[in-house]
Amino acid sequence: MYPCTGCGLCCKHIGSISELKDYDLGNGVCKYLDVLTNSCVIYDTRPDICRVDKMFDDVYHEFFSKRDFYVKNAEACNSLQLIHKIDKSYKLNIKEI
Ligand code: SF4
Repeated sequence: MYPCTGCGLCCKHIGSISELKDYDLGNGVCKYLDVLTNSCVIYDTRPDICRVDKMFDDVYHEFFSKRDFYVKNAEACNSLQLIHKIDKSYKLNIKEI
């Protein structure tokens, strides 16, 4: 399972994701994100595009190994965290993937 640290930043930057256009509050934040807890209130029924492992199994396994796909996602998570200067405790440890 992808080692998401739950920073919530991906759920606050969905503006460019066409599959989630109906989820966007208008400011890039998903309407199903509980901003107090950074948790998804529809987690069990969230769209496939929000599921790293499902997207790998359905689409990206044709292009990447699972580790490479995880690393690419982790690099994106870490970049987002760096830009938004959130606590380093959320950083994904790519060496452990
Ligand atoms: S940006 Fe990455 S670490 Fe943060 S909640 Fe999204 S998937 Fe998890």
